[in-house]
Amino acid sequence: MPPPTTYGSADPARGPAPVMRVRSASAPAPGRLVNEDLVFRFGPLVGVLDGATVPEGFDTGCVHGPEWYVRHLAARLGVAEAARPSARLTSNLAAAILAVRADHGGRCDLDHPGTPSSTVCLLRDCGDQVDYLVLCDSPLVLDTGGQVTVVTDDRLETAMADLRRTVATVPAGGADRATRFRHAVGVQRERMNRTHGYWVAAADPDAAFHAVTGTLPRRGPAAVRRAALLSDGASSAVEQFGLTDWAGLLDMLSVDGPGALLDRVREAERDHPDRLRRHKPTDDASVVFCEFGPAA
Ligand SMILES: [Zn+2]
Repeated sequence: MPPPTTYGSADPARGPAPVMRVRSASAPAPGRLVNEDLVFRFGPLVGVLDGATVPEGFDTGCVHGPEWYVRHLAARLGVAEAARPSARLTSNLAAAILAVRADHGGRCDLDHPGTPSSTVCLLRDCGDQVDYLVLCDSPLVLDTGGQVTVVTDDRLETAMADLRRTVATVPAGGADRATRFRHAVGVQRERMNRTHGYWVAAADPDAAFHAVTGTLPRRGPAAVRRAALLSDGASSAVEQFGLTDWAGLLDMLSVDGPGALLDRVREAERDHPDRLRRHKPTDDASVVFCEFGPAA
């Protein structure tokens, strides 16, 4: 629709900008009706959110829940981007987190350590460059100039490794499995959005400024060619199951598409239950796959 914008438009000085083609897939864990992951696209902004599942029997101080949280956070990210398309992704994420605080409607205890939270993986096509943001364990796989790299935020993983050591120090026989688990969840919650802990989108907008961010060129030899935004339920294809490496994952997405990757993960979960982590038999899984081709 006219009038043309800089996004995807022809620049007479440098030729037409390459087009960003986006495909995505998201599925709840088998047997579950609720998907606490969310994928979205608002024009040049794409994202994956992975809401933290509340362990059964744990209080959150919130009447809403993870699915509500990710839907509202995505909507508020869309509004922030519409209002300030050239602001930094961190600023718009902080604005979105702040707006969702208000969306709770004053009925929830937002200082509760179990308040709903979500990982965030964002990519924004700015025409001349691409901005990205990774907060918590939803990695971003990039092909820039034919080199494949992965952007991760491993602070949750570090905190969890610490936690496993802490739990291991609970005297054997001194605590049953349920008590140990309760203790572990308590310690993890204490570390959320704290220095020396890990950072995640929840009720504190400051978390946005602790995200891993970067910018990539859209043109030239180091231009971004492909990008995959993954929830950990999908990155498990490489990290837990070793079905392929990161380059192989991008190739699989290029050839077979995001749905095929999720199918491969479900097969692997069935075939290798021993390789699952965090005692989760299976998880919601999501992929947003971007290809930066020549102008259409
Ligand atoms: Zn709430």
